[in-house]
Amino acid sequence: MQNPLLDATDNDEEYEQTLRPTRINEFIGQKKVIQNLSIFIEAAQKRQEALDHVILSGPPGLGKTTLAHIIANEMGVQIKPSTGPVLEKPGDLAGMLTNLEEGDVLFIDEIHRLNPVVEEYLYSAMEDYQLDIVIDSGPNARSIQIELNNFTLVGATTRKGLLTAPLRARFGIDMRLDYYDVELLQRIALRTASILNMGITDKGAHEIARRSRGTPRIVNKLLRRTRDFAQVQDMNTITDEIADTSLNALDVDQNGFDEMDIRILTAIIENYEGGPVGLGTLSVAVGEDKGTIEEVYEPYLIKEGFLQRTPKGRVATRRAFDYLGIKPPSEDD
Ligand code: ADP
Repeated sequence: MQNPLLDATDNDEEYEQTLRPTRINEFIGQKKVIQNLSIFIEAAQKRQEALDHVILSGPPGLGKTTLAHIIANEMGVQIKPSTGPVLEKPGDLAGMLTNLEEGDVLFIDEIHRLNPVVEEYLYSAMEDYQLDIVIDSGPNARSIQIELNNFTLVGATTRKGLLTAPLRARFGIDMRLDYYDVELLQRIALRTASILNMGITDKGAHEIARRSRGTPRIVNKLLRRTRDFAQVQDMNTITDEIADTSLNALDVDQNGFDEMDIRILTAIIENYEGGPVGLGTLSVAVGEDKGTIEEVYEPYLIKEGFLQRTPKGRVATRRAFDYLGIKPPSEDD
């Protein structure tokens, strides 16, 4: 992903780690998801069974990895993290699975990017806690079975639509995370500031929340950058004014749009008269990867009513024209 606001460097990884809520009651927002998950966890604990497999979907930075860790903590088990592209060969998956202890969580991020061959092996593991491995080839080929401990697979994906039907069917718990509203993001900003011992006013937290594209990860990143601005000016409290100046300097506009959001809307409106325009064409026009446009930028622009996906392609809405100060074609004389 090339969005500087969403890219994680090693340093950011550590920063995120520090800020991750570790228990279910510290997780802010996603009320319905949290309510249901609490019930499923309590029920599994009462039955003394591993929790059913969970698929978490939604745009990046909304708390999928955080929830996977919370599930393991609440169940009192270990979490073994991996990602779809890292599990290249069946042997990689077998290695992970045979290392799981009773009840452990296997977390596979970007599960839609699993190699199809590896995915096939996952089916019997999920269903019967058993690995069927074919060894040798030709006339000597035979299948051996390895018994696994009961475990919970937690899969995370930004593109649930790309999961195959057999994989999707094997998740008993299916949860979608949605963008957060400003009030929740403000609470997240206040929580982060207090963990990091930063001074911040309610209004300062509100300003950052309002411009964070509905995403906790962006709240935390913008908060960190804003703190730099405050410190350089020898201020120890982030006010709404400091937040506003810093966010302007970071090219985060009043809607929380960054440069790429604006480039997408401008391209559709200026080059294609508002659309429809196909994803491939748009991707070339703005110089951004198709997947990133689809997973990172579009969901928020659609949610905020600036963009529509139609069978013929992407269309800019009236609101997008107004935002860029351009008259929609239908209003031309
Ligand atoms: P995802 O896996 O969906 O990309 P993460 O779980 O890595 O997102 O979350 C990104 C960051 O946002 C984490 O560091 C975490 O601190 C913060 N975060 C996410 N959701 C919440 C929440 N509900 N409450 C507080 N912080 C959150």
